[in-house]
Amino acid sequence: METILVVNAGSSSLKFQVFAISGSQDLDCLVRGQIDGVGMRPRLRAAAGDGAALIDKAFESNEIPDLEAAIFEAGAWLRETQKVDLVAVGHRVVHGGPDFVNPVRVDRDIIARLRRYISLAPLHQPHNLAPMRALLERRPGLPQVACFDTSFHRGHGALADHYALPLRFYEEGVRRYGFHGLSYEYVAERLRQIAPAVANGRVIVAHLGSGASMCAIAGGRSVESTLGFTALDGLPMGTRPGQIDPGVVLYLIMEKGMSPGAVQDMLYRECGLKGLSGVSNDVRELEASADPKAVFALDYFAYRVGLNAGMLAAAMGGLDGFVFTAGIGENSPTMRARIVQRLAWLGITLDAEANRERRTVISASESRVPVYVVPTNEELMIARHTLETLSKQDAFCSTKEKTAD
Ligand code: ADP
Repeated sequence: METILVVNAGSSSLKFQVFAISGSQDLDCLVRGQIDGVGMRPRLRAAAGDGAALIDKAFESNEIPDLEAAIFEAGAWLRETQKVDLVAVGHRVVHGGPDFVNPVRVDRDIIARLRRYISLAPLHQPHNLAPMRALLERRPGLPQVACFDTSFHRGHGALADHYALPLRFYEEGVRRYGFHGLSYEYVAERLRQIAPAVANGRVIVAHLGSGASMCAIAGGRSVESTLGFTALDGLPMGTRPGQIDPGVVLYLIMEKGMSPGAVQDMLYRECGLKGLSGVSNDVRELEASADPKAVFALDYFAYRVGLNAGMLAAAMGGLDGFVFTAGIGENSPTMRARIVQRLAWLGITLDAEANRERRTVISASESRVPVYVVPTNEELMIARHTLETLSKQDAFCSTKEKTAD
C-alpha cells in the first residue's frame, strides 16, 4: 500500500504519522508515533490509526543522538515492522517567510532558502529542516514537500500585514505573518462540513495549545491573526509571553544588561503561563493546583483570549461563529468556560453540559453566536498538501514507481 509519511520535528522530539493513499486519493491514518527525548533519553512510541499500541521502546542517548538519527530510526521501524511503502514525505515547517505562499517540493535550494528564516523561528525552523536535509542526502529519490504554518495567512490585506515601521523593513520581510496556518486551514474545512453557513461568515478560531493564537477567518480565508513576525506575539502561551510592549525588551537589554540571546531565551522559554504561575506551563497542572498564582495565570490567559477576540471581531466587522481547537481548546472545559464568560458581551452563552461532554456545538440555543469545538489535524492537512503538490508534478508518477520497490 502506498503511503505518505508526515513529519513534525521539534527541538527534542519527532512526531510522525503515516497515511495510506486509497484509490480515490483519500488518506487514512495507519500509524501515529513519536520519538521523544532525542539525544537525552530517546523513546519511540507508536500506535495504529485505531489507537492500538504498536511499540514503546527506550534507547540509549547515543543510539538516537539527533533528529537526523530519529528520522532514520522511525523510517527503519516503519519499513521493517509496518511494511509501509513510502512514496513521499510531508514536513511541517513553521516559517515560509514572504516567499512561500504554497507548499513546495524540497530540494537543496529550497532548504537553503528556508534556512534564512531560522532567526525568525529559532525554536522551530532549524529542527523542521534537519530531517528534511538528512532525507534529501540519504534518500534523494524520495519526494519531500514542505508545508508552512504561514501559508494560510499570506492572503492578508496590507493593513493586517504591516507594522507601522519605516517601509523598507516591510520590503525586507518584517511583516505580520501569522502561524498555526495548517491547523486553521483544516478547521476551516471541517467547519464547512459542520456548519456551512457559519463557515461562509465571520469566524474566530482559537488554536489554544502550548503555542496559542487566534485567527479571524472570513468566508473561509484568514484575514487577521494574533501572531505576527515571529511566534511570540498575541496570546500568552505555555512559555511565551504573547503581546508585549517592545519597550520591555529595550529595558531588559539596556537597563538590565541582558544580552539579546538571553532575552530571546527568556521570551521563548520562561514566560507565559510558566512565568506567571511559577508552577507549570501546562494547563492541566495549573488547573489541578490550588496556588493562587496558578489561578491567576489561567485567568490571565482567558482575559487575553477575550481581548484578542474583540480585536479580531473588529477586524471582520462582526462575528458569526467561534471555534476552539488544539490541546487546551479541545480538552479543557474549564478554560473554555472561562473564555466564554469573557465573550458574554457578544451575547455568547454556553451549554454547560455540552461543554463538559465536548460536543461539537457547545453554545446554548439562545447564544447569539454559536461556539464549536473542532479537533484539529495538522498532519492530515500536510498529507493532503503533499499529495496535491506532488500530483501536480509529472515527475511524481515515475518517482512513485521508483520508490515503491
Ligand atoms: P502543541 O502542539 O503546541 O505542543 P497541543 O495542542 O498538543 O500543543 O497542546 C498542549 C497543551 O494542551 C498542554 O500543554 C496542556 O496545557 C493542554 N492540555 C492537553 N490536555 C489537556 C487537558 N485534558 N486539560 C487541560 N489542558 C490540556
